[in-house]
Amino acid sequence: MSFKPHYIYARVSEIPVEKLKSKGIKGVILDVDNTLTTHDAPQPSPWVRKWLDQLEQAGIKTMILSNNNKGRVLPFAEILKLPFVAEGKKPLTIGYEKCAKLMGCAPNQLAMVGDQLFTDIWGGNRFGCMTILVEPIQEETMFFFKAKRFIEKIVLKDMPRRQL
Ligand SMILES: [Mg+2]
Repeated sequence: MSFKPHYIYARVSEIPVEKLKSKGIKGVILDVDNTLTTHDAPQPSPWVRKWLDQLEQAGIKTMILSNNNKGRVLPFAEILKLPFVAEGKKPLTIGYEKCAKLMGCAPNQLAMVGDQLFTDIWGGNRFGCMTILVEPIQEETMFFFKAKRFIEKIVLKDMPRRQL
């Protein structure tokens, strides 16, 4: 059982596209909430588009895997023109399998990028892909999220920042 991401970055746009490519990554699976945007915001953060363009230019496919519902994910995916899997049930691997099939990639050719250890990273590790943790764009306020972040901090305490 591993919650440990392979790499950690502050935000998606800091992940070096050329290094992903040199590691044999052919597809990137992206979480939405707090990875590409704040919770329930209708628009992606402005620096996201630029990074996605870099991935496209490098020939790396991208798609969205969210545990949120279709009503939330579809409009956002349309703005970014990305295919998506909603209600992905992370950390189960079912959503990752759908993404891998759609992108025509093996697990070891994929990188999962997300802000949550217990969904995005755990699921990605179980599936066998590269996992990259990013800091949540906006600190959540609800108690549930606060409690979860607290536990994540304990798990991450002794973890060095490992970058590509
Ligand atoms: Mg998230």
